Amino acid sequence: MADASLKRVLVTGGAGFLGSFLCERLVEQGHDVICVDNFFTSQKFNVAHLLDKANFELIRHDITHSLWIEVDEIYNMACPAAPGHYQYNPIKTMKTSILGATNMLGMAKRTGAKVLQASTSEVYGDPEIHPQPESYRGNVNPIGTRACYDEGKRAAETLFFDYHRKNKVNIRVVRIFNTYGPRMHPFDGRVVSNFIRQALQGEDLTIFGDGSQTRAFCYVDDLVEGIIRMMNGPDDFVGPVNLGNPGEFTIKELAELVIELTGARSKLIYRSLPADDPTQRKPIIDLAREKLGWEPKVPLREGLVQTIEYFRGINFADFRAPTPNY
Ligand code: NAD
Ligand code: UDP
Repeated sequence: MADASLKRVLVTGGAGFLGSFLCERLVEQGHDVICVDNFFTSQKFNVAHLLDKANFELIRHDITHSLWIEVDEIYNMACPAAPGHYQYNPIKTMKTSILGATNMLGMAKRTGAKVLQASTSEVYGDPEIHPQPESYRGNVNPIGTRACYDEGKRAAETLFFDYHRKNKVNIRVVRIFNTYGPRMHPFDGRVVSNFIRQALQGEDLTIFGDGSQTRAFCYVDDLVEGIIRMMNGPDDFVGPVNLGNPGEFTIKELAELVIELTGARSKLIYRSLPADDPTQRKPIIDLAREKLGWEPKVPLREGLVQTIEYFRGINFADFRAPTPNY
């Protein structure tokens, strides 16, 4: 008899950095996993090792267009996440968040699937309170260059909660804080991937602004564990819940750590700060601790060692820069 705990699971954006680890974990658990991706910011490389598994399928599809698959659970991860990627085609970014969420919620409504939204700490914008609890409503510039992502994700949260209230869709919303690890795109322009690639290629590390802005970095394994716990958590806890590592570092501290761990001779060079770049960010994760029994375990130094090892093993020339920005 089939194991009733095994589910048919759809992961949108499943070939991306986070999505690929999520697919891998779900495949290992024995679920029937369907990965949907349009490969805008990723490549099949990330899921190539899953292609010969009997419980894994890969579909090239853009979630702004409708899709009909009968599944038990949907992890909606599809959306460009690095500023350079989401700003490349900001209108498409917003469509991916809003039309993508609408399509997934519509599918969930009709099939009765449970659906989880990968939201973001960017819903807090450039936060005026620090650290950030889920109750903080944010400080987002609605007409700035980050708005396509921030406001798209905020609108997606609204759609999730309205489908939940009006149509009884079983939802989960996680607000993900900066996450890093192997399989980040080496040319995505995000700070961890940029610094490691620059250090390994003997380039100087580019600090935007004076490097005093802070971020809290979560290792991918910890984050994926939190996402899965949230999906499997009690139905009366739909979120939003912060998932991130509360360890806070300045960008300059991160650069110095990358130089130390790679043994690079790179120097720090200073570039202008992008518009609306948040000055500080750090999650309060009391809710995740209480409701999910979750907290991150991997310290930054340890996670960076793993990430550097991955970057040492790839050939940068194999990676197509997804946008002309990099
Ligand atoms: P990523 O860019 O590596 O992955 C996103 C994936 O979505 C890619 O494979 C991309 O090709 C795919 N995609 C984009 N638009 C699509 C569309 N219209 N149709 C189908 N597929 C599409 O980024 P990531 O870091 O893995 O982020 C995954 C999710 O987590 C995103 O929704 C992002 O907003 C969210 N998130 C990530 C972080 C982080 O630090 N990594 C932080 C907050 C939120
Ligand atoms: N940053 C930097 N140098 C880089 C890339 C990013 O100093 O080469 C800074 C960026 O300005 C921001 C922080 O690092 O203050 C995190 O940037 P990232 O794009 O990784 O994520 P986000 O700003 O979305 O948190």
